[in-house]
Amino acid sequence: MNTLEVRGLSYRYADGTAALQDVSFSLAEGERVGLLGPNGAGKSTLLLHLNGLLPERPAAEPAVRVFGTPVAAPHLETIRAQVGLLFQDPDDQLFCPTVWEDVAFGPQQWGLRGAALAARVSEALAQVGLAGFEERLPHHLSRGEKRRVCLAGLLACDARVLALDEPTSELDPRGRRELMALLARLPIAQIIATHDLEFVVESCPRALVLDHGQIVADGPTADLLNDEALMLAHGLERPHILRHRHPH
Ligand code: ADP
Repeated sequence: MNTLEVRGLSYRYADGTAALQDVSFSLAEGERVGLLGPNGAGKSTLLLHLNGLLPERPAAEPAVRVFGTPVAAPHLETIRAQVGLLFQDPDDQLFCPTVWEDVAFGPQQWGLRGAALAARVSEALAQVGLAGFEERLPHHLSRGEKRRVCLAGLLACDARVLALDEPTSELDPRGRRELMALLARLPIAQIIATHDLEFVVESCPRALVLDHGQIVADGPTADLLNDEALMLAHGLERPHILRHRHPH
């Protein structure tokens, strides 16, 4: 069974903007996929659909399934724990006075308390390399550390798919490398919307290109990014690191 299955997903915002048109793809267990496309292509809109943050029309056949379960009522609570959405701006995601409380927030909603909760939080912080940060104030951390706290919060909820919106944006080189290494270590399916094409080359064997709400390419990252015509047609460019490599 696919981890994530999207079939014929279309979405229009209330003002009539057609943000997604007949989008279909699937994600296998543990697969890491780069989601590319110019600004306004529909990347964020697509990620929001993966855990039901944007409502589908009630009558429609659910277009998104996670481990076979439709992303629709009455499954939304379960889906929201399974699909961890990392917002572009970590300040939108962190709202507790300490790192510990922020990471504990999700599992607490699920009824975890006491030693089990403490163990879950410690484990999630260790996974993101932030053991010892428990009492730190989230808003005093670097942007890279904030992103890792957000990720720990998702892992503490036992997320089985991560949907990441521009995870490397506005990070310094070290923060970016640390985050890339961390994502590469996580054995969880990931869909990563990004303009950081070098990150996609290094971290994602497969890429999707979205433009005007439609998937215009889906395949091995190197093949897509080496296709200069495809890149130019969709407002992207072949990343510098590929220029030093032979296409195949
Ligand atoms: P991307 O993440 O690829 O930059 P978005 O998913 O943010 O693209 O946007 C897709 C399209 O939907 C764009 O045309 C954008 O202007 C439009 N859009 C995004 N959010 C809203 C909204 N809340 N209301 C109306 N239109 C929106």
